[in-house]
Amino acid sequence: SKRARLDRFISQQTGIARKDVRPLVARGRIAVDGQPARAINQVIEQFTHVSLDGRILQGATPIYLMMNKPRGVVSATQDEQHRTVIELLGEEYPGDLHIAGRLDLNSTGLLLLTNDGRWSRWLSSPEQRIAKRYRVTLARPLTPEYIEAFAQGMYFSYEGITTRPAGLKILSEFEAEVELTEGRYHQIKRMFGRFRNPVLTLHRVAIGELELDETLAPGQSRALSSQELAQFA
Ligand code: URA
Repeated sequence: SKRARLDRFISQQTGIARKDVRPLVARGRIAVDGQPARAINQVIEQFTHVSLDGRILQGATPIYLMMNKPRGVVSATQDEQHRTVIELLGEEYPGDLHIAGRLDLNSTGLLLLTNDGRWSRWLSSPEQRIAKRYRVTLARPLTPEYIEAFAQGMYFSYEGITTRPAGLKILSEFEAEVELTEGRYHQIKRMFGRFRNPVLTLHRVAIGELELDETLAPGQSRALSSQELAQFA
């Protein structure tokens, strides 16, 4: 849920009229983050805990996970054909997690999952320009011309946009590291497609300063540490 005033929140959650919330506050019947509510206009956010007469109205805690996404698993919460990354998570996680920045079915690597909608919107908002770094293997040899073409940007007629300057580092004849600050549909595959060079594997290694924990086997996930989370602040 979004930010709301306490009286509005209580009314939405319980059906109690907004004007009847003040006496509940006065009698100390509403608790906010474990303390008696102070005022009817107190701001309630997504992860503020609220209870009425000891009954929890909102009590979720924020969850931030990284997964090493395996091949052949979809970045979605539901899919008819394939397993989803959500299905790979252990039973210990609540059902309301979503994906902050998808990877294609056959792409692998760093995927972030959360129940914090504000955080994921912030992460994926185009203005943030958070860099995403990928390891790519190609079917045909790379040449230095690619570097200039990626840096220049490419016009995608379907969307009518030019891609932002992208970093390309040639690691070996068939291997490159690509850095994007946006995520257009199949962007990397389409960029190499301009050179008629099929992408064989695509592995995301970093989002901003956050790097994939390479000790995670494909399909495994773990909570972000507080230091890792703080990198995004
Ligand atoms: N570009 C792609 O083509 N696929 C991805 O999964 C990510 C970037």
